[in-house]
Amino acid sequence: MKNLTILGATGTIGVNTLDVVARHPDKFRVVALTGQSQLERLARQCHRFRPKYAVVMTPDKAQALQAMLTGLDTRVMAGIEALEYVAALDEVDSVMAAIVGAAGLRPAMAAARAGKRVLLANKETLVMAGRFFMDAVRQHAATLLPIDSEHNAVFQALPNGYSGDPDSHGVRRVLLTASGGPFRARAIETLRDVTPEEAVAHPNWVMGRKISVDSATMMNKGLEVIEAHWLFDAHPRQIEVVIHPQSIIHSMVEYRDGSVLAQLSNPDMRTPIAHALAYPERVEAGVGWLDLAKIGTLTFESPDYARFPCLRLAYQALAAGDAAPAILNAANEEAVAAFLGHRLPYPGIAATLEAVLDRLSGHAATSLEDLMAADAAARRQARAWIAALQPA
Ligand code: NDP
Ligand code: MG
Repeated sequence: MKNLTILGATGTIGVNTLDVVARHPDKFRVVALTGQSQLERLARQCHRFRPKYAVVMTPDKAQALQAMLTGLDTRVMAGIEALEYVAALDEVDSVMAAIVGAAGLRPAMAAARAGKRVLLANKETLVMAGRFFMDAVRQHAATLLPIDSEHNAVFQALPNGYSGDPDSHGVRRVLLTASGGPFRARAIETLRDVTPEEAVAHPNWVMGRKISVDSATMMNKGLEVIEAHWLFDAHPRQIEVVIHPQSIIHSMVEYRDGSVLAQLSNPDMRTPIAHALAYPERVEAGVGWLDLAKIGTLTFESPDYARFPCLRLAYQALAAGDAAPAILNAANEEAVAAFLGHRLPYPGIAATLEAVLDRLSGHAATSLEDLMAADAAARRQARAWIAALQPA
């Protein structure tokens, strides 16, 4: 029996995780669930899974949630320290880190420092603080299992016991696949008219709003390049992005002898979630079997940086190192929020990132505090830059 904390239980990944958990009551027990704004959903999850702890972010939300949990023994807590607490509980084996954005960093770090099996969906943790997070994983003998479908695929295609250092394992390159999102074939000059509704309508995946916009701009793939760098100890030139619109191959590893190993499945996050939950076992995930004859054709193309400038900026930030990836990530969160709030046109997302990276280059990153400061500075710059675009 594995005891679980699910950080971000009310989100897309959280809901999919609970779907897999519900199929295996003999294997997984939920100890803690967390959410932020969707209290009714969190309350329903508590009634169904009866966790010992439920965490929200503010005392008033905690009070409101408590009122919905009559008859349960669930202890309701509030705030970031409470997230860190449930991520590090002695009785917990595995922590699903599925909060979106920079807010997910501290609890993911707490889980690593407590030596847990960390099922990492929150890619922002590695983008912001890859070095510190990977150090914590090693120092505290935590186990890191990637949930992001591409990295989960790479993990599955790497040799058993892969310990970093691709060259010594005969690995030549990691090939990250990308769907290309909803605007892969749209005329570039019409991208300025893109609405939030169009951007969040992903052709293959159902995801939270922020990551859906990131998929449209391919910032998501840029963040994943940085994520792959830290997870697999791969040099940026060993990480290649391939557009594969059908989202059937979730990523590949190319070996020195010319072999390429790929992981395939229907595009459903329950596959990587089930893989990581049960690892090294394999369990039923509720996902339909892959019907290759029905799919018929798998196609591939190279990404066009003119269409997807965010991808180029991510490679640049990774090469610049230090706080640049954290700055990129923070500016992107602000820009995406502004775009979703109709305060920034779609091409303004990449323009914001470029402007903020330009202004804040050379920010130090010798501690986690430095990175948090860079994150805050990038948010201020991004907001000011976006505000200056508004008609007076
Ligand atoms: P969602 O937006 O659907 O869910 C986010 C979760 O985090 C919700 O439970 C939300 O609570 C909670 N949350 C949001 N903001 C805060 C905050 N400031 N403090 C505490 N909790 C907060 O996102 P997804 O599930 O789509 O994605 C989660 C993470 O997984 C992201 O980092 C994403 O990049 C990554 N990921 C997602 C994939 C997907 O297919 N969805 C694929 C690969 C990676 P509430 O909803 O109650 O407000
Ligand atoms: Mg992904």
